[in-house]
Amino acid sequence: MTPTDPATSTPVLSRDGRVTETVERALAVATANSELNAYLELFNESAREHAGRVEDRVRQGDAGPLAGMVLSIKDNICYKGHRVSAASRILEGFTSLYSATVVERLLAADAVIIGRTNCDEFAMGSSNENSAFGNVLNPVDRTKVPGGSSGGAAASVAAGTVHAALGSDTGGSIRQPASFTGTVGFKPTYGRVSRYGLIAFASSFDQIGPFARNVADTAAVYEVMAGHDPKDGTTSHKPVDPIDLQHPGKLRIGYYREGLERQGMDPEIVAHLQAHIDRLRAEGHTVEPIEVPLLDHQVPTYYILATAEASSNLARFDGIRFGHRSTKAKGVDETYRLSRTEGFGPEVKRRILLGTFVLSAGYYDAYYAQAQRVRRIIRDHTLETFAQYDLILSPTCPTTAFGHGAISDPVAMYLQDIFTVQANLAGVPAISLPTGTHSNGLPFGVQLTGKPFDEARLLAASAHLFGR
Ligand code: GLN
Repeated sequence: MTPTDPATSTPVLSRDGRVTETVERALAVATANSELNAYLELFNESAREHAGRVEDRVRQGDAGPLAGMVLSIKDNICYKGHRVSAASRILEGFTSLYSATVVERLLAADAVIIGRTNCDEFAMGSSNENSAFGNVLNPVDRTKVPGGSSGGAAASVAAGTVHAALGSDTGGSIRQPASFTGTVGFKPTYGRVSRYGLIAFASSFDQIGPFARNVADTAAVYEVMAGHDPKDGTTSHKPVDPIDLQHPGKLRIGYYREGLERQGMDPEIVAHLQAHIDRLRAEGHTVEPIEVPLLDHQVPTYYILATAEASSNLARFDGIRFGHRSTKAKGVDETYRLSRTEGFGPEVKRRILLGTFVLSAGYYDAYYAQAQRVRRIIRDHTLETFAQYDLILSPTCPTTAFGHGAISDPVAMYLQDIFTVQANLAGVPAISLPTGTHSNGLPFGVQLTGKPFDEARLLAASAHLFGR
């Protein structure tokens, strides 16, 4: 019998048994759940081939640490010889010429990658409704979105098709979908995991990280990926602390009272967090209210800087070098214009326009330069908080998953990121842990934020304080 996760009663892949059988089962579960639209493609052939090789190594007793684990990758992570599109028409049909460093490290550790998952176009969004290839349905309740932008990745784990999934998190795109689907989602410190081979959205924020059903699998995947990469100059040379998931002892935890009192917060999520605060105090941890650095400025600052960086990063998609080229265009200028007009969806266009505006000569100082200053204040404040506290506790999101089409105003959608962008603005690690089920039947998470490069303690605290 297939084991079942007591929290969600979906089938869970076992890690025992033969790797080829596990991979067959994973492919079968993914195919049976194809109406979720979580996958843009299953890599049937390469997954089977790789599973055979891993199984041989298991038999010979020299298999890597992730042998038996089946993974999916978000459709903005390159895997040599496989298609990658960032869920955009502009890259439809494009095949990767090389593998991302994370993919190479996972394969070297004997994980098997079974497919690429749907996401918001170029990772821009909070509901997976911006994909050029259709919405993803939340496996917990198909009338709801799975969150975004890594919605397919979260759904691939929640539906039991894989042990873990790789996503990318620029402003919350791993943690928010984790909260909406009842999975664990982890964004490491900026510079801890290589982004070589990740299609860039906003380079000073982007980070690759794992989704899984529990902290142990999350940590196992993270540990294989982490560490300096000569191909990514932003990766740190700091050694990666071994992850042992031992109890971290008594901790000093700060939480944002102001965040909990905000309008628009779901009262059940607030009450749930309050109960955790009381319990953690009763267990002997120091849990104190702390000040949020410029809470109302965080989302605007993020959107100014992220769109500025996106407008520059996406300039390379011009219809000439790769991807979609308009067949209607005459001449170079028209080729640029029509290829981009036809290839990009509305949210990507909105962000390119916004980003170009904030970088333009007349507005640069008022928006871009000012946002850089605000970012520095938020970062400094965050680091000062960590002089006194080991962790920051907050909700991951103000609400549970919403219905498809329920949020049509882009600015209202941007407020989904209210609790998640701080970690990206400050470059610190943060994790969303599934700790509650709402009376509406939907899961939601709490977020723990840690000190830079203190992933080992953050993961250990996640495993013990919240029992995942
Ligand atoms: N929701 C945020 C945005 O739309 C975050 C996206 C992300 O982390 N990739 O920009």
